[in-house]
Amino acid sequence: MSQANRMPYQEMHLLPIAGEWRKGSARNVLNVTDPFTGDTLLEIVQADREDLNQAYISAENAQAAWANMGPGQRSAILLKAVQIFDERREEIIDWIIKESGSTRIKAQIEWGAARGITQESASFPARVHGRILPSNVPGKENRVYREPLGVVGVISPWNFPFHLTQRSVAPALALGNAVVIKPASDTPVTGGLLAARIFEEAGVPKGVISVLVGSGAQIGDAFVEHPIPKFISFTGSTPVGLNIGRIASGGKYLKHVALELGGNSPFVVLADADLDQAVAAAVMGKFLHQGQICMAINRIIVEDALYDRFVELYAEKVRALKVGNPSDADTVIGPIINRKQLEGLLNKVSRAKEEGARTVVEGEVRGNLLPPHVFADVTADMEIAREEIFGPLVGIQRARDEAHALLLANDSEYGLSSAVFTKDLERGARFARQIKAGMTHVNDIPVNDEAHAPFGGEKNSGLGRFNGEWAIEEFTTDHWVSVQMTPRSYPF
Ligand code: NAP
Ligand code: MG
Repeated sequence: MSQANRMPYQEMHLLPIAGEWRKGSARNVLNVTDPFTGDTLLEIVQADREDLNQAYISAENAQAAWANMGPGQRSAILLKAVQIFDERREEIIDWIIKESGSTRIKAQIEWGAARGITQESASFPARVHGRILPSNVPGKENRVYREPLGVVGVISPWNFPFHLTQRSVAPALALGNAVVIKPASDTPVTGGLLAARIFEEAGVPKGVISVLVGSGAQIGDAFVEHPIPKFISFTGSTPVGLNIGRIASGGKYLKHVALELGGNSPFVVLADADLDQAVAAAVMGKFLHQGQICMAINRIIVEDALYDRFVELYAEKVRALKVGNPSDADTVIGPIINRKQLEGLLNKVSRAKEEGARTVVEGEVRGNLLPPHVFADVTADMEIAREEIFGPLVGIQRARDEAHALLLANDSEYGLSSAVFTKDLERGARFARQIKAGMTHVNDIPVNDEAHAPFGGEKNSGLGRFNGEWAIEEFTTDHWVSVQMTPRSYPF
């Protein structure tokens, strides 16, 4: 497609449904707003259940030809998408800032993560392979073919919309699946429409990707229950994820699911830690994207000997963070995504105070800007320790010793990410292995994602792993084909 024929990215109100860019058929219009200015960015006529049905049917029809392309061809299309990421870097980052209230630093990180998984996925077509197994039956050969699942339904959240959609869509496509995306209603452009445009420009055939903008409450169940998708890749909150798990296993049609859900990451500072490094990490690991990250630090647990100095240094650093316009290069704390989330966070602040936490940093709300709040002397029973916060608030707990720190770290229904600071690296690794979580980082923040390393959670943080060879497993299935090469003798 020539440059002139490209759809400008500014014309984002149309949805790719069943091979055509058009308006949704629902009556409701979604107002997409900038969380910092409150301005309307665009209006999108939403998709309804009939659109959903058409999207799934066309995905199913288009999938076989896509899967039958040679690995080199599919890989080249993914690499072309990476090239478009580079060419359109500023435009993409701008959308992430405007639509999701991301600071420039966060938007750049997100662009890089999405680019990384796309590049990694370009290697999948040539890495996926079957096996030949011996047989106990004379004259038989057992073959295991690794096949695409068919149609994959992707549901993504608003916090890292561009990356979290891409981390399912890129591997799904690379491995020969077709996809239907339902982005979060706060972020339809960065959570789906941009990806669809980029992949279309890169050469993915029409119909292989559809995007349904519509509220989860209205089309969510139908999206999951539909007979066509064989896999639902969901990233979002634990309550919605649990419901999707129920539908996928207890509805009319069984399907595979990947559930990447909420977190409550502990950040443990042992008495022999490098205090300055630990404080710096606790600032970054808590406040990137205003704390709206599943892996963000949710509980800071400090061993007694360092506790008072940690609280003092941490408070000092946090007070200096710039709160304001997310497009300014030095802003660290931008707006909360929407009013409802902001109100929930303000309730958490009141609750922490009522429950007896000691306020060490606080500030006044302006618009959707919520300045950082730090509470000390938090105990494990307080709401701010028990619940996922998803905002720029944090509580610090005192641990008597290492064993107590471990007990506190594991005292959660969640098990996504975690971190521990100590100068003794083997002590750190031993401690890490005792944390019940999918990911633990020694002397670093819990917020880490590498395109080739397994990403995912334990307990109520989810099921399944993304990235690298783990994504190859998730987005394909095995087909055992046996070939009886000589006549077999049967007992009757
Ligand atoms: P959410 O409310 O669960 O929404 C996530 C997605 O699910 C949105 O697209 C939403 O659509 C859709 N949805 C809502 N109800 C649905 C239903 N009944 N059926 C199907 N889909 C439905 O989560 P969020 O507030 O956007 O995101 C924050 C949460 O995501 C946090 O808990 C965070 O920890 C988690 N998260 C996890 C990871 C991870 O990798 N583990 C990464 C990022 C975020 P609408 O927007 O239209 O409601
Ligand atoms: Mg918005």
